[in-house]
Amino acid sequence: MKRKPVIAIDGPAGSGKSTIAKLAASSLGLHYIDTGAMYRAVTLKALREGTDRKNEAALTGLAARTVIRFEYGERFTVLLDGEDVTEKIRLPEVSKASSDIADSRGVREALVKKQQEMGAAGGVIMDGRDIGSVVFPDAEVKIYLDASVEERARRRFIELAEKGIKTSLPQVKQDIEERDSRDMNRPFGALVKVKDSVAVDTTGLDIAQVAERITGIIKEKL
Ligand code: C5P
Repeated sequence: MKRKPVIAIDGPAGSGKSTIAKLAASSLGLHYIDTGAMYRAVTLKALREGTDRKNEAALTGLAARTVIRFEYGERFTVLLDGEDVTEKIRLPEVSKASSDIADSRGVREALVKKQQEMGAAGGVIMDGRDIGSVVFPDAEVKIYLDASVEERARRRFIELAEKGIKTSLPQVKQDIEERDSRDMNRPFGALVKVKDSVAVDTTGLDIAQVAERITGIIKEKL
């Protein structure tokens, strides 16, 4: 039987992928899979266990014995080995360390395999960096979401402030620039705009406008 469609949304940090993917998933009746949350969950576990971030064998083992699940109740919940870590994985120290963890080949292989299993039946919107290139190169719809670094930093700063996390706009911008460089230059699963993706620049657009564009593109493609 043919699987239901897979929608891949890739793009840099702060481009609005998760907000938009969640909205599109609920309006189109699809499951949302946040692959960044999976890298974050493994990162949180590595930080808690004090795993050396350069120890490839230890990281590979850690990823292999980690169970990550999503729950779609009143709110989207991320479960790490059964524990609700939805908020904890957004802490700045996890964001920062996640770039190192996402460079690990063993971690990537383990998570890509989990993501392919989660999306095997289709009917999903998956967001990340390598979804259209590595995880589901045959996805029915591929979107590359982007925005200027200034705008992405502003959005992330407001998001952190709303959560009571104190930082400064220049600091957030610097963190985003560092993450962009890491995302685009990693040896495996680097962020690229694949040829068969539709690029959407969200600079200057609000969430409702972007959601409308994305939902429109998905409906048109399907
Ligand atoms: O998207 P988000 O900021 O939550 O991603 C967390 C970390 O996981 C980032 O460092 C990002 O580079 C990495 N990541 C990745 N591949 C994905 C999704 C996220 O390397 N598919």
